[in-house]
Amino acid sequence: MADYYETLGVPRDATSEQIKKAYRKLARELHPDVAGEAGEERFKDVARAYEVLSNPEKRQQYDMGVDPTAPGGGAGGGFGAGFGFQDIFETFFGGGQTTQGPVPRARRGQDALVRMDVELAEAVFGTKRELQVDTAVVCSTCTGKGARPGTELRTCEVCQGRGHVQRVARSFLGQVMTTAPCSACGGYGTVIPEPCPDCAGEGRVRSRRTLTVNVPAGVDTGTRIKLTAQGEVGPGGGPAGDLYVEVREKPHETFVRRGDDLHCTLPVPMTAAALGTVLDLETLDGAQEIDLRPGTQPGQVVVLKGLGVGHLHTGGRGDLHVHVEVQVPSALDDEQAALLRQLAALRGEERPEPRLAAAHPGVFSRLRDKLSGR
Ligand SMILES: [Zn+2]
Ligand SMILES: [Zn+2]
Repeated sequence: MADYYETLGVPRDATSEQIKKAYRKLARELHPDVAGEAGEERFKDVARAYEVLSNPEKRQQYDMGVDPTAPGGGAGGGFGAGFGFQDIFETFFGGGQTTQGPVPRARRGQDALVRMDVELAEAVFGTKRELQVDTAVVCSTCTGKGARPGTELRTCEVCQGRGHVQRVARSFLGQVMTTAPCSACGGYGTVIPEPCPDCAGEGRVRSRRTLTVNVPAGVDTGTRIKLTAQGEVGPGGGPAGDLYVEVREKPHETFVRRGDDLHCTLPVPMTAAALGTVLDLETLDGAQEIDLRPGTQPGQVVVLKGLGVGHLHTGGRGDLHVHVEVQVPSALDDEQAALLRQLAALRGEERPEPRLAAAHPGVFSRLRDKLSGR
């Protein structure tokens, strides 16, 4: 445990007046304007010693060998007169910001976000797109300085270019210097006597630009494409933020995307499903030949490998799943009905057995499709 009497340089039987006096003297000596940052640690010790010895209750505890500032120890409450240790500390050190200079006029601009609708085919293959954006750009009249061409910024006379002013405040410690931003120049240390007529001294103006965006294959709704330094130029012509383009994929008329796979539904006449057929399917990659085997079932899935969406980061592509939908004719003329009756007779299906299938037939047929590789 630190010797608080020694820290303040007072005898053990010092009166509260002596303790206060010793603390004030040390506080002035250790003030950052006098001692610089080197005094900071020592001031903390002094303030803690004063916190204990200025409070009769805490001082009594301390004299009995208990440190009231230790975590969990001692009677609660801060400084005797309602001051917290932190309050006092910040009065002196201002949260550690006493030695700052003027604030720079040029600051980094904000990031910007724009949304872009893409077609499914663009997401599948990737594309380049032109995009119009409205953002702040550097004012070309004053090149970002904010001053009317031919005029210059002037050093602020109030703070002499420091950006902050010092004020003397009275406190129970005597006179204390505090630092505050200069209100005459807003803390910049400079003033603009004649602002630029085009940007009113901001150093930037809004402008519409056309950008080319490289949309990689595999983007999806919610994907953000980052365009470095294409966002807003900052105040005072500061460096630009980044521009994010958020993708929104438009739904397609026939293809549905799930992850990087595509799904579509192919209606096939009952006869073609039973007899088998070859047909040309129009995919995003152009016409693809599909070979339906004789006996193709409703819901059967034909997988066309590598005709799905490009994988965003790894390359390669997902698959295209063609779901077969067998269509039963809803109306037959006499000749067709006669032919089908003939077929039914041949197959012994004129009066089919009323036999129920196992429960959840969908589960089994999907499993069967998997096993047969179709
Ligand atoms: Zn100023
Ligand atoms: Zn300007």
